[in-house]
Amino acid sequence: MEKDIDFDELEYATNRKLPNDDDELTGHIKMYSYDGVNFSYQMTCPYCGAETEGEKEMPNRPYYIKCSECETSSLVRKLKGQGSKVKRPGKDDDDDAAEAADKV
Ligand SMILES: [Zn+2]
Repeated sequence: MEKDIDFDELEYATNRKLPNDDDELTGHIKMYSYDGVNFSYQMTCPYCGAETEGEKEMPNRPYYIKCSECETSSLVRKLKGQGSKVKRPGKDDDDDAAEAADKV
């Protein structure tokens, strides 16, 4: 699904790590929107490690994504200069790869 994203048309896109309550970057979020209202996301929960993906309507900040496993909501913080810096998925997946290897 993600391979079909047209990055030139995106209103919002992020691909970054998520902190838990101890500020450890144990989670990860990929999220994008074509209109700034309807978001598609893929999250690795920083609290329990579960992967959640889906779509959510979020017309206003702040953006929260709730884990389907532990039901903890993670705040997707606004980054400076975000609009001009759209990362392609898979670009900084080193940690994901390490995690995946861990699970095998
Ligand atoms: Zn969770």
